[in-house]
Amino acid sequence: MTQSALLPTATLFVTGGAGFIGSALVRYLIGETQYRVVNIDKLNYAGNLASLSSIDQDSRYSFEQVDISDGRELARLFRQYQPAGVLNLAAETHVDRSIDGPAPFIETNIVGTFKLLEAARAHWQTLTGQAKDAFRFVHISTDEVFGSLGKDGFFTETTPYDPRSPYSASKASSDMLVRAWQHTFGLPTLVTNCSNNYGPYQFPEKLIPTVILKASQGEAIPVYGTGDNVRDWLYVDDHVRGLVAVLERGQVGQTYNIGGHNERSNLDVVHTICDILSDLRPEGGDYRKLINFVTDRPGHDKRYAIDPAKIQGELDWNPQETFDTGIRKTVAWYLDNQAWLDAILSGDYRLERLGTSLGTSV
Ligand code: NAD
Repeated sequence: MTQSALLPTATLFVTGGAGFIGSALVRYLIGETQYRVVNIDKLNYAGNLASLSSIDQDSRYSFEQVDISDGRELARLFRQYQPAGVLNLAAETHVDRSIDGPAPFIETNIVGTFKLLEAARAHWQTLTGQAKDAFRFVHISTDEVFGSLGKDGFFTETTPYDPRSPYSASKASSDMLVRAWQHTFGLPTLVTNCSNNYGPYQFPEKLIPTVILKASQGEAIPVYGTGDNVRDWLYVDDHVRGLVAVLERGQVGQTYNIGGHNERSNLDVVHTICDILSDLRPEGGDYRKLINFVTDRPGHDKRYAIDPAKIQGELDWNPQETFDTGIRKTVAWYLDNQAWLDAILSGDYRLERLGTSLGTSV
C-alpha cells in the first residue's frame, strides 16, 4: 500500500459536490477529516445545495458555482485555492436523459473532464518537490463502461471497455482521457469505477428514490421490462470511504473497482422497498400491488456486477453496509425528509419518465 503524502489539512477540489455522491463526500470530508474542501458545481437540475446544509457554515468549506467546461474559471480557482488534489464527480449522470439528449453528456463528461485535466496539469506543473509528488487527481467513473454481463462473471479492473449508452460512452471517453494525461504528461491520476449507488439525498429520478416516493404516495411503481435486470448496489457512504482510500493510499495510474457485493434484480429491489414500507407505514397496505411493468429502456444492460477484490486487498477497504441494512436506512431517510424532497419536486422535475426516445411518460 502506498501512503500519499497529502497533508491532513490539504485543500481538495470536489467537483459535482452538490450532487448525490459528491455531497456525501463533502459531508464526510468536512465531518470526519481535517481537509479543506472547495465544492465546484454548476448546479444543474441534480445539484442541490440543501444537501450540504449540515456543513456549509464550516470554515473549511467553500462553494464555487463554476462549470468544469469553463477553462478560464478553472484556472482562476486553481490559482486562488492551490489545491493538493481533485476528486472529479461532476457529470451528467442519468442514462435515460442521455438517450433523450446526449449533447450535455458530451459537453460535461468529455469536454469538461478535458478542461479540468488541463487546468489541473497547468497547476501541477507549477508545483515542486513534496507538493508535486503528493498531488492527486481522482476521477470517479462507473461500471457501466464495461458493458453488460451475462448470468456469470464479474467486472474487474482489466475487463475491456464496452459502453452501450450515450452516458456510459461519455464516461468511458473521460476515463481514457484521464489515463492518457497520466501516461503522456505524468499527471498523478487515478480512476475509480463503481456500481450503482443508493442512499440519502439521491435525486428522485433514479430507481430507488423513485420507487420509495411513488410507493409512499400510493402511486403506480414503474418497473422497466420484467424487472430482471441485475445491478450491484453500493451504499453511498461506503463508496465515499472507498474514494478517500483511493485518494490517500491508491497507486498513481491505477484503476480501482468499488462494489458492495450486493447483486439484486430490479424487481427484488422493488419488493424489498415495498416490504420495508409495509413495516414502516403499514397504513399504506400491500405496496407490492402498486408495481406496474412498463416498456423497457432501449439498450437496457442486463447485468452489472463488480469484483472489488483489488481495493479490498490493496487498500484495505470494505463496505460496512449490506443491502438489507443500507436500504432500510435509505427508505427511512426519504420518509423523514419530506422538506428536502418537496423542494426538488416543486421544480421542473415531477417523477416523469425519461429515456424512451419517444417522449412518453408514465
Ligand atoms: P448527480 O447527478 O447526483 O450529481 C452530479 C453533480 O455534478 C450535480 O451536482 C451537478 O450540478 C454537477 N455538474 C453537472 N455538470 C457539471 C458541470 N459541467 N460543471 C460542474 N458541475 C456539474 O450524480 P452522482 O450520482 O452524484 O454521480 C457522481 C459521479 O459518480 C458521476 O461522475 C457519475 O458518473 C459517477 N457514478 C455514479 C453512480 C451512481 O449510482 N449514482 C454510479 C457510478 C458512477
